[in-house]
Amino acid sequence: MRTVKTRKRSAFAAAALVLLLLLPLLSGCGGADSVTSQQTRETRTAAGNGQTLKVSFLDVDQGDSTFIELPNGQCMLIDAGEAEYGDEILSYIKEEGYDRIDYLIATHPHSDHIGGMRTIVEALDIGAVYMPRVQTNTQVFEKLLRAVREKGLKIQTAKAGVEILEEGAVDIRLVAPAGDDYSDLNDYSAVVHLSYGEDAFLFMGDAEQRAEEDITQEIQADVLKVGHHGSEYSSGNSFLKEVSPDYAVISCGQDNKYGHPDQEVLEKLKKLRAKVFRTDRQGTIIMTSNGNGISVEGQNQRQDGSQSHTETKSKKAAATVGSQTVYVTKSGSKYHTADCYMLKSSPRSLTEKQALEEGYEPCGICDPQEE
Ligand SMILES: [Zn+2]
Ligand SMILES: [Zn+2]
Repeated sequence: MRTVKTRKRSAFAAAALVLLLLLPLLSGCGGADSVTSQQTRETRTAAGNGQTLKVSFLDVDQGDSTFIELPNGQCMLIDAGEAEYGDEILSYIKEEGYDRIDYLIATHPHSDHIGGMRTIVEALDIGAVYMPRVQTNTQVFEKLLRAVREKGLKIQTAKAGVEILEEGAVDIRLVAPAGDDYSDLNDYSAVVHLSYGEDAFLFMGDAEQRAEEDITQEIQADVLKVGHHGSEYSSGNSFLKEVSPDYAVISCGQDNKYGHPDQEVLEKLKKLRAKVFRTDRQGTIIMTSNGNGISVEGQNQRQDGSQSHTETKSKKAAATVGSQTVYVTKSGSKYHTADCYMLKSSPRSLTEKQALEEGYEPCGICDPQEE
């Protein structure tokens, strides 16, 4: 398992090296930027890539990042993993031939989704930026906002009904957040529905069941990027039935301490006969569509059989997490550090291990996880 990871890392390093060597050829600072991106785009189209939609579910360990290459030559990035993955994501995008992100979507301000985004914003030309109208006071969020501001970009509110692109056979719109009074940041997740001809994708961010229930728009999709890393708080039965995906993609880390993906979610997907792909097992997952059928690159499916491992894995993960003291409240579902402002009066203290065993999840604001 570890060697796969290392190999992937060195592949990334190799890619970065290649990029470094190519750098003088790519040119491109200052005023030459738009010219460069146009040239890159033309080269791409000439290469015959013009009519293909390519979706890369990047392996960013316990986090989310999806890079989407549109048939019209534009591209979109949904989330950018933890901060440490920013450079790898950037290399991937550049290697694919892009120096501009036309549509950048931060589904919600948790570090496993926006951590690496500052690197992207600083390094690339950015078109439209979408974020839900919700704030947190984490450093990672504030740094991202600063980078966006310094770049002179204006944030567009991500909410249900926003049309991102409607052009030819491509239609990209936001179907969530449909509400604005959620107690959990995850429920504010921007949910993206992308259709190309007869194929459709639904990217959930970390939206949980309450947010799922509020969605009123079309959500049927061939590919479901499963909500919240496959956690039990997402993927409600009626929601899954309505989506009725043929493929489900779960982005989560090997041996993650949350036990993602949840066994029950995997079983629900199995019942729906959706083929499950997981970044913790298969690494980066690439799907392409010509608008009339989806193919999975280098597929190496292990949708079942692998499930029996999950339980042992989550138990093992729970046993290895730290013994640091964390705090919970009676009504909350998260655990916190002592100084988190989300922590209301009379919290109960316990170890992180106990908190996880009792089903609490780490707060996304104070980020109490021990690494
Ligand atoms: Zn997340
Ligand atoms: Zn989250």
